[in-house]
Amino acid sequence: MRDLVSLLNAESHRLDALERLRRLRETVQGRIVFTTSFGLEDQYLSHLIFSQDIAIDVVTLDTGRLFAETYALWQTTEEKYGRRIRAYHPDANALQEMIADQGVNGFYHSLDARKSCCGVRKVKPLKRALEGASAWVTGLRGDQSEARGSVDFVSFEAGFGLIKANPLADFSRAHVDAAAHAAGVPLNPLHARGFPSIGCAPCTRAIKPGEDERAGRWWWEKDEKKECGLHVAADGSIKPRFVHSDGDRPWAV
Ligand code: SF4
Repeated sequence: MRDLVSLLNAESHRLDALERLRRLRETVQGRIVFTTSFGLEDQYLSHLIFSQDIAIDVVTLDTGRLFAETYALWQTTEEKYGRRIRAYHPDANALQEMIADQGVNGFYHSLDARKSCCGVRKVKPLKRALEGASAWVTGLRGDQSEARGSVDFVSFEAGFGLIKANPLADFSRAHVDAAAHAAGVPLNPLHARGFPSIGCAPCTRAIKPGEDERAGRWWWEKDEKKECGLHVAADGSIKPRFVHSDGDRPWAV
């Protein structure tokens, strides 16, 4: 597995995003899952996968708290490409218990409550979405924030025992934006209103000039890395690492 990861990583430097996806599909046996949250990067990757008919499952984590614009874009994207984007929802009992315990907007009250909410609404559904998969594709870019600066093209996620691929790791936002517009990719109108990074509605605000792209996420948390736990390793780093499946927790939630 390490040899394959090293090979794909080395090759990625000379490939474009589409070639990276194709190479991943050619090289990795079994199910490959792309998790989209309908942001700029994810929409571009969905476009490449759908328009080129690459055998990668496109899924989303429907937290139930997304912006109305995001749900509309989800529908528009399915209609444009004629493909269903499968949703993974929070477990109903876990959600019911959490809201009974912390209240409907309890995530504002403490970091633990926020992480609990992200755990129930995102991380656990992600685990279901990736069950049995060989590889996971994401839209992470290295320059989205300081915390994401060291994102690799391809790594091994020990917690799931799968390959994680970030075909846009070395793309700038301007690069993705230009490619997406040139290809006529449907985009979330919130991007034009100051939301470069779009998550759940109650936890995302527009950013101010000079702020990093993820500054609008969980804005009330002053000192925390702006991550929901989906891409955070056990030591708090964003950079995927080579580790063994010896109890290492892949998600800091
Ligand atoms: S982003 Fe906010 S609403 Fe969404 S899962 Fe996390 S805490 Fe809950």
